[in-house]
Amino acid sequence: VEHTFSIIKPDATKRNLTGSVNAVIEKAGLRIVAQKRVQMTRAQAETFYAIHRERPFFGELVDFMVSGPVVVQVLEGEDAIVRYRDVMGATNPANAAEGTIRKLFALSVGENTVHGSDSRENAAIEIAQFFAGNEIV
Ligand code: ATP
Ligand code: MG
Repeated sequence: VEHTFSIIKPDATKRNLTGSVNAVIEKAGLRIVAQKRVQMTRAQAETFYAIHRERPFFGELVDFMVSGPVVVQVLEGEDAIVRYRDVMGATNPANAAEGTIRKLFALSVGENTVHGSDSRENAAIEIAQFFAGNEIV
């Protein structure tokens, strides 16, 4: 069984969609084994998305991620990392498949409702940034 890290982004918390997103996650058979609502600091957002530091949209991305509360989560399941990426849908909601979270809820490539880890290595790093081991149950 595998763990992945998820963020319900500010566009979703602003529109009161936390429960709607969680319903899609749970319907897909992923289990929410840790969850908290936090206001990310600019430093936290910059660290979290450090891999995109040189991209032209980095400033916009950090501004967005601190524009309101987010819900950080650990999801558990068989092949949770790849399966959650499937449930999320494509980064740009215009390209997202029917029934995916981004097709259902995302507003744009920037305001795209959720984050999910893209590898085992990154999942471990991202989970450790927000959760202690005894918070994952
Ligand atoms: P995430 O890492 O948030 O799960 P992703 O893996 O689908 O998304 P990445 O390529 O890692 O996509 O980009 C990280 C985030 O940066 C995207 O989710 C999106 O919010 C933002 N982003 C990516 N490309 C653009 C762009 N062209 N313009 C604005 N924002 C972008
Ligand atoms: Mg990514």
